Amino acid sequence: MTTLLLRAGLVVGPSTSQVADVLVDKGRITAVGTDVVAPAGCHVIDASDCWVGPGFVDLHTHLREPGHEQAETIESGAHAGAVGGYTALMAMANTEPALDNVALVSYVLDRGARTPLDIAVAGAITQGRRGESLAPLAEMAALGVRLFSDDGTGVQDPALMRRALTYARPLGVRLAQHCEDERLAAGGSMNEGAVSGRLGLVGRPALAEELMVQRDIELVALTGGPLHFMHLSTARSLELLRRAHERGLPVSFEVAPHHFTLDETCCEQFDPIFKVHPPLRSRADVDALREALRSGFVDAVATDHAPHAPELKDLPFDEAPAGMLGLEYAASLTFEALGDAPDPQRFFSLMSREPARIAQLRRDDARVRHGAHGGAVVEGEDANLVVFDPKATWIARNEDLHSYAINSPYDGRALTGRVRTTIAKGVLVVNDGALV
Ligand SMILES: [Zn+2]
Repeated sequence: MTTLLLRAGLVVGPSTSQVADVLVDKGRITAVGTDVVAPAGCHVIDASDCWVGPGFVDLHTHLREPGHEQAETIESGAHAGAVGGYTALMAMANTEPALDNVALVSYVLDRGARTPLDIAVAGAITQGRRGESLAPLAEMAALGVRLFSDDGTGVQDPALMRRALTYARPLGVRLAQHCEDERLAAGGSMNEGAVSGRLGLVGRPALAEELMVQRDIELVALTGGPLHFMHLSTARSLELLRRAHERGLPVSFEVAPHHFTLDETCCEQFDPIFKVHPPLRSRADVDALREALRSGFVDAVATDHAPHAPELKDLPFDEAPAGMLGLEYAASLTFEALGDAPDPQRFFSLMSREPARIAQLRRDDARVRHGAHGGAVVEGEDANLVVFDPKATWIARNEDLHSYAINSPYDGRALTGRVRTTIAKGVLVVNDGALV
């Protein structure tokens, strides 16, 4: 394991930032300061004019293994994540079969341990994600699982969701919900509104999301079980969360880059690359999400990275599967959304510190197999780090993607801010924007 020295970057802490060198040795940060002497054989990386902070943590990654390895494997997803500046990914349970038991969770953890990143697993809340009976949450929690979700769909049955929240609390785990009432959203392939009406497509109403957000806030109030709201996409959902925060309820939420960069008019060409659940919303919703990011109200940015094999995205709009890639551009899109002079502390809070806190990616439990993420850049911390160049400009190109799938809606888009270096588990994984 080579010693690494990040020279003269702006080291971004939780509340202050300072220009400093960061020395990494044997998986840990061993020195932070000015004029740190490079030991013999040390790989020195110039980080001047760049931000150095904790590696990004994605709360919402769909790796397609097991079941759909032609779209993404745990390894290819880890490579895409590393290029995007991530050092830890939370693998969603909606594989085939679903990750609803100890054997399957262990399988993904074992495969993940062979990748350059830390792969944590979100176990399914219900058996087979069918929404009928609870999965063995306690057994999976004993393996170190700290987040549970049926994502792909939400738990529709309120009585079952109430029981899940009641079980979650004493286990010290958090549930994460995809909020859409499937009966209200049934058959819909884009946002319901004037645009869907004009295109003749069945819509998924904002209300399908907001009703479940409201229901689950009340279930949290009833049970005290902690809940993370995934990919919130409407102004009203954010307003509901604002009131839940004011009540002091144990809730957190994420927004996804596609929801704060693209609106429903993207669907006008009937290109299924823009199909996603919840759907791309109105311009007013997009603006509300961007305003919430800038004001510091949003807890976390999460990608909902959802690879699909190319032939599936060639289907007609209403038949194609929902979802798009996200890992490789999320940092740049978030940086841009934060406005003209983005606050580096807020950027790392959204991309790393809060997601790591929500996912409990600490090393304080003998059962967990991952390192610590989202911490301060100080001596003794695990070396999970990213170097982000806020001045870089570049063009997103599908041919440069590291995922097996290419269903990105950003091909050809100009981007500002770029991940230069990723150090994960103490190892240089990405340098000058490319896999080492
Ligand atoms: Zn979802």
